[in-house]
Amino acid sequence: MRIVVKIGSNVLTRADGTMDVTRMSALVDQVAALRREGHQIIIVSSGAVASGKSIIPCEHPLDKAEQRQLFSAVGQVLLMSHYSTFFRDYGINVGQVLTVKENFSTPYERENVSHCMEAMLENGVLPIVNENDTVCLTELMFTDNDELSGLVAQLMQADKLIILSNIDGLYDGDPSLVGTKLIPRVRVGEDLSSYISVTKSSAGRGGMQSKCHTALEIAACGIDVLIANGKRENILIDLFCPDADVPHTEFTR
Ligand code: GLU
Repeated sequence: MRIVVKIGSNVLTRADGTMDVTRMSALVDQVAALRREGHQIIIVSSGAVASGKSIIPCEHPLDKAEQRQLFSAVGQVLLMSHYSTFFRDYGINVGQVLTVKENFSTPYERENVSHCMEAMLENGVLPIVNENDTVCLTELMFTDNDELSGLVAQLMQADKLIILSNIDGLYDGDPSLVGTKLIPRVRVGEDLSSYISVTKSSAGRGGMQSKCHTALEIAACGIDVLIANGKRENILIDLFCPDADVPHTEFTR
């Protein structure tokens, strides 16, 4: 199977805002295990802005765009250096793919991106994709990395898209209230508006609304989408093990 795994900023960030390298290392172990089973994996990883923010003391007043540019420029290097170190333990080379919205806008641009990732996969290199946050501003930006992961899954004709967040999936109400239930399966065409909270991610730009929007759109193309909790131990392995019965929401056609 070809699987796109999207890892959200909240998964890779601790409560104090620093990068959760222990979590990242655990996810790398699981991705390496899935590759050993013969799956092809593409990672879409957020966390550049969050990790840059945690190490750069902001001494000068900067507007939102400047902050994002500064933090992502520093944080993306840190992010990739951790991924590269952890994957090297398994003999896996990683490659960085930084994209802007325009890279998906025309058939020529799309082909260019897909050729690049196909060449990586053919040569055993694991692509790690993120938005090029240092140069993308306003209308040039993706809505968030959920949207980007959907575009990558479609472009690369993935069999599955797994969106890892810090929540188990889609709930039928406020997850902090007693009695609220996780929705295990959603079919394309279902109206989810009454379930979805518009609360945004604290560390990244996404939120459940955007995840569901992407999930429905991608599932409609025949690619199954799973939203699951990246903070759960062994989540990626358990999602492939029917006996594990791990909580998640699956979107199918
Ligand atoms: N590209 C951003 C980053 O790496 C994250 C965008 C998002 O949260 O979706 O920090």
